[in-house]
Amino acid sequence: MPSMIDASCPKCGRRFGWCGELRDKPPCPRCGHRDDPAELAAAQAKMDRLKELAVSNPTADLCREQRVQSGLSLRQAAKILGVDPRRLSDVEHGREPLWDELAKAMAEAYGAVDSPSERPVSGTGGEG
Ligand SMILES: [Zn+2]
Repeated sequence: MPSMIDASCPKCGRRFGWCGELRDKPPCPRCGHRDDPAELAAAQAKMDRLKELAVSNPTADLCREQRVQSGLSLRQAAKILGVDPRRLSDVEHGREPLWDELAKAMAEAYGAVDSPSERPVSGTGGEG
């Protein structure tokens, strides 16, 4: 069963959802903006990994791997996820089963953090 995906338009900020895979992302209903297919494919690959987090029993290793890839420390991640760091550590070591809510929070928290080096530079170039 295909899942519902939510996204917001990078151009006008309009939020919209669709059914299916990330790469099936339709053009923005407001401004018609389409994402670069190559970018969508890359995001799809990432999402496929993250989706494993959202299923009922992802491996503890995966939880840790995704967190590390997001550049978050255990404490930072625990704060974002709203859990006790010790509890998160237990989950990552397989001492405690991952629960649904936490899995979803993880997918969001880890998916939302892009490493700056991988990010395609778009449009406005500022030195910061
Ligand atoms: Zn738009």
